Amino acid sequence: MGKDILSKEETIFSLIIDGKIPSYKLYEDEFVIAILDINPFSPGHALVIPKEAAKTLDKLSSKSASAIGAILPKISRAILDVTGAKEFNVLQNNGVNAYQSVFHVHFHIIPKYEDGRGLQFPFQSSPINHDEAIILSKKIYQHILEGT
Ligand code: AMP
Repeated sequence: MGKDILSKEETIFSLIIDGKIPSYKLYEDEFVIAILDINPFSPGHALVIPKEAAKTLDKLSSKSASAIGAILPKISRAILDVTGAKEFNVLQNNGVNAYQSVFHVHFHIIPKYEDGRGLQFPFQSSPINHDEAIILSKKIYQHILEGT
């Protein structure tokens, strides 16, 4: 379904939540729905989606966040049991440059199989800069304390 036929507030996921387009549903409660990803990285690749239409994780209410956090382990266990995969990644993208393509918060659960199917890591890291880390950690710590 093209983005052009969605209204301003709608996303593919809001249409799925509202039952307007079909999905392979795995789970549903008052706050959360889980479905199979239509373009999976590996069999069993699932999306866990809060019904609340927040675009990114930082905008999500505590209530929806709690509901998602509580159900993620249970859905992960079911996917592992059914697929036989023993390992998995949880991926959560926020923003275009961070690879988000559907602007309604969601968590990917991606089974990692012994033959390599699953998420491939192109990410690059480098050792922490300790001078920067001292400043950053203090600032973020304080920001969280102040209740942002
Ligand atoms: P992200 O790039 O993190 O925003 O991921 C969005 C995901 O939604 C992608 O992995 C898509 O394959 C998936 N997706 C898009 N449309 C649908 C759909 N109709 N049903 C299930 N998954 C979808």
